[in-house]
Amino acid sequence: MERKQSIVILGAGFGGLRTAIAIAKKIKKLHLQKKYDVILLDKNSYHTYTPTLYEAATTSKTTANYPELQEIVAIPIGNLIRKYKINFIRAAITTLDLIGGDIHYDNGRLKYDYLILAIGSEVNYFDIPGLKENSLSLKTFIDALAIRNRILNYISDGKKDLKIVIGGGGSTGVELAGEIQGWLRELRTETKNSCDVKTTIIEAAPNILPGFEEKIIESASIRLKKIGVNTSFNEVIDSIKPNKILLKSGREIHYDIFIWTGGVKASSLMQTLPLKREEKRKQIVTVPGMECLPATPDLKLYGKIYALGDAICFYDPITEKTIPKVARAALVQADVVANNIIEDIKAREEITSKTKHRIYQPITYPYVIPIGGKYAIAKLGSIIISGFWGWIFKILVELNYLLSITNPWQAVKLWSKGLRIFIKNDRLG
Ligand SMILES: Cc1cc2nc3c(=O)[nH]c(=O)nc-3n(C[C@H](O)[C@H](O)[C@H](O)COP(=O)(O)OP(=O)(O)OC[C@H]3O[C@@H](n4cnc5c(N)ncnc54)[C@H](O)[C@@H]3O)c2cc1C
Repeated sequence: MERKQSIVILGAGFGGLRTAIAIAKKIKKLHLQKKYDVILLDKNSYHTYTPTLYEAATTSKTTANYPELQEIVAIPIGNLIRKYKINFIRAAITTLDLIGGDIHYDNGRLKYDYLILAIGSEVNYFDIPGLKENSLSLKTFIDALAIRNRILNYISDGKKDLKIVIGGGGSTGVELAGEIQGWLRELRTETKNSCDVKTTIIEAAPNILPGFEEKIIESASIRLKKIGVNTSFNEVIDSIKPNKILLKSGREIHYDIFIWTGGVKASSLMQTLPLKREEKRKQIVTVPGMECLPATPDLKLYGKIYALGDAICFYDPITEKTIPKVARAALVQADVVANNIIEDIKAREEITSKTKHRIYQPITYPYVIPIGGKYAIAKLGSIIISGFWGWIFKILVELNYLLSITNPWQAVKLWSKGLRIFIKNDRLG
């Protein structure tokens, strides 16, 4: 009898979960569950629901305790895939043998026939001396709790002033600064400490949100000013010492808490793979059908290998720019990967003689930038909505993200729970 085929998805982030669920559903529909296994691997037992990380970093313990926060930010993968025939393995991948077809992880080894690399990105410290050692970041649930605890401890200890500096004025830095400002009011009342907190964003570009359009930058700048966030532009970090940032301009900025939100790069595990890369940054690229190519034409890769999301660099063929590392891109690419693998399987099983492969076509995705309280700036096509209605759009987008990675019942349950907790954070008007 023919060996059962393994479809292995590495990473249960937005892209990996979506791919696993889409493939599992189709395999069931095609009555191929006895011939194909869908296996999902992740180093964590939970999916990090990144759109709520800012809120988790700025939620008082009286508003939500650890298990409550964990339930909506670090969502157990078991709950998300319960309805589907997906075999989940909690394991940290250590090496990948793409020639022999083996996945090595901390406590075992696995063979694949179809492989999907969806292992996301990691914080980019750009080799700036002292940056990693002296900063907090905002990439995981643990990171969010570390930010929350540092701020909380500082104010609870009765300190009279606190300097929070955020390095990087992209959307992560701006959104975090906004949430911190909203939380401070509540925190001061709660701790009865009228601590003088100064939140500053430092950015190397001439303004916040580099790459965003003028109108968005303008609205966001006005909002930040209104809620008391300071900004410092055209300042490149040279090195970081404990409590002191040294800038290339010769200036020094003192801090009590420094949070680095200056960028991410594809997971370093991707750097070890014998796959085709783009010239400039040597990042792994795929063909428009999301399949990976060998590093050199003479190399024979094992099975079919696909990659998506933050783990790769994808050039928009029209603008020739790289597409941003956002959840929506990973989700759309996941649909392309799932479709193309299923089409191959249908051809292999002689269910169809004509495969309908799809390609990924980047579009400008709608986006939303919440900046403290019930305020967000949303861009949908050519329309910009800011203020309360932008915030309404934000909460609907969050529901949509959840619907993309789990069944509707689970999505609505998680979303309403999150909304109930985080709305308490959004008191700032
Ligand atoms: C604070 C923050 C807020 C964000 N907000 C938004 C937003 O509002 N909207 C939006 O569109 N995007 C947002 N993003 C970006 C979005 O989260 C990413 O673009 C998206 O998660 C990429 O999906 P992915 O599947 O490629 O990777 P990820 O979702 O990062 O998933 C990668 C998975 O791989 C696993 N993994 C990594 N290495 C290993 C290993 N060695 N072994 C096993 N498992 C491994 C990880 O545990 C993780 O579960 C935000 C990001 C951050 C940090």
